[in-house]
This record gives sequence, C-alpha cells and structure tokens, in this order.
Amino acid sequence: MPWREISDPYKIWVSEIILQQTRISQGLDYYLRFLSQFPTVQSLASASEDDVLRQWQGLGYYSRARNMHTAAKEITERFNGVFPNNYKDIRSLKGIGDYTAAAIASFAFGLPHAVLDGNVFRVLSRFFEIATPIDSVQGKKEFAELAQSLLDLNNPALYNQGIMDLGAVICLPSSPKCVDCPLQDACLALAHNTQKIYPVKGKKIHLRDRYFAYFVVKDSDKHYFLHKRTDKDIWQGLYEFPLVELSRPLDEYTDYTEIVNALLPSFPQLTIQKINAPIKHILSHQCIYAWFIEAKADVHKNTSLVQYNMVDEQDLDNYAVSRLTEIYLDQRM
Ligand code: SF4
Repeated sequence: MPWREISDPYKIWVSEIILQQTRISQGLDYYLRFLSQFPTVQSLASASEDDVLRQWQGLGYYSRARNMHTAAKEITERFNGVFPNNYKDIRSLKGIGDYTAAAIASFAFGLPHAVLDGNVFRVLSRFFEIATPIDSVQGKKEFAELAQSLLDLNNPALYNQGIMDLGAVICLPSSPKCVDCPLQDACLALAHNTQKIYPVKGKKIHLRDRYFAYFVVKDSDKHYFLHKRTDKDIWQGLYEFPLVELSRPLDEYTDYTEIVNALLPSFPQLTIQKINAPIKHILSHQCIYAWFIEAKADVHKNTSLVQYNMVDEQDLDNYAVSRLTEIYLDQRM
C-alpha cells in the first residue's frame, strides 16, 4: 500500500480518514486521486469546498471531507502551514479524534500513542476475553488503557501497524484465521472457542426511515436543475435534484398533485414522465427510500429559480452529488 513506509503526516492523515469504514481496494483509488488533486496541505486548504467534495464523491461520510478541508485551513493559519508534530496539537484539529491522532503521531513522528480502531478492539477483546461493551464509555476507557499499556514504546509505529494488520487480515470479524495467528498459544477466545462472542457491543443502532421524491426536471432546452444542500442534515454541501421529502412511501394511494404543488413555484407546468423504482440507501443512522421521478417543465426565463443551478446534461458530472444520486445517474446511463 502506498501509505506504508511513509512518514509524511499529511499523506498518513489522508489515508487514515479515507480508510475509515472504506474497503482498502476502494480506498486506494480515492487516496491516489485525492493526493494527485491536493498533493500538499496547502493545496487542500486553498481548494474550494465544491472541489474537495467532488473528489470525495461516492465515499460517503462527507463531513469527513469538510472537516479535512477545515483542518487544512487551521494548519495553514495556526501552524504556518506545517503539520503539527505532537499529539495534543494534532488532536486539536477539526475531525481528528483519538484514533487518527494516535495513528499520525506514531506513524509520522514515532510518538508512543496506541491506536484503537475496530480491528484493535476485536483482537484485544478476543485475546483477553473482555466482555465490556466496546461502544460503552467504560469499554472505551478500559480498552484505551489496555492498548496503551501494551504498546512497544521503542517502536510504537511498528506495534500499531502490527496489531491493526492482525485484526484486518487474521482476526477477521466472522471467520478469524486462528490457525495462522501468531497469538494462538495465549488467546483466551481460541482456548474457549468464544471468538464469535467478542467483541461485545451494547447499543443497537435504530435506523430512521426517510422517503425522498427527487424530481429530475428537464426543460425544453435540455437543462437539468440541481440544488445545493445547505441544511445541517445529511450531504451538506452536495448537489441534488429538486427534492420533496415525504412523510410516507410513494404507492398507489399517493396524491401526486400535492407533491408536485410543492415544486410549482419554481417549475410551473411540471409534467411527470416516468417514476423509477425506489432505491434503498442505508446510511449510518438512516434508511432512505428514494424515488427519482423524471419530469418535464416549461421553465420561463423569468421564473424564480434562485435556489437551483441550471445545468447542461454533459455538465452533470462536474457537480459533487451524494452516492444515492450517483447510483441513479449510473443506472440511467
Ligand atoms: S487466535 Fe484467533 S481469536 Fe485469537 S487473536 Fe488470533 S485470530 Fe483472533
């Protein structure tokens, strides 16, 4: 992996943020593209938010990209453009939590801070058979202290990389490869055949259902209309087709007149042409059901469209959109 054997804190930071909850095979492409577009912290700081989100498109968790952008500006302003070289200052940057700060501090600067990510939680909870839920306050504290106590102070980077790799390659979530594991002689979970019990989690995440009707409106000059999300909701800063959020799913009882009325001030004489099958899209705390409704509208030049960008079809790719909208656009091709 290109982020191995490097000590550039900026590149390590980019790799750690991209790889959080992203498969390595998918993250690698994003990592290489992101660095070729923004090779230094200064280039990221001076980019527009639209450009940053565009590079991030499809990765999800867009707040991470926005936080990186903010943190790059902080480095430029507070640290004269030089990446901070101690844990406290690294941890003070927007969007950098305990894990990322420890990873940057140890990998870039050789500082003695133990990383604690999902892989490390899994290895430690199995090896020591620790039943404290890893998502509880007590669990986080207990595991953080244990991880720090085990750290090889003479070579924290190698130790951190080793335990993370062990979790990623050997101590897998559903089928750990215990026969290949260098810890097999002392692992309590293997001795008691309890690997499936650990790590223990306390909370069950409740997904909130939401129903989105997107209107893919085309005018007689083949323009589309995109709106930039600005609310403190999901996908802030990304573009999408005109949206009406519904209180219930679309079905045979739906009154389309009411939904279309919500858009009429901007799109008079809107005519529905096709209602696509819903796309189900799951985020960390929400389950979104989205109907992309293709429609025609007679958009006069004097119509109030201040909240929309009028976009030629071939320029749609230039706008950063959510993964959900990207899925619809891909299906349409
Ligand atoms: S022996 Fe098995 S359960 Fe224990 S740490 Fe190794 S892979 Fe994980």
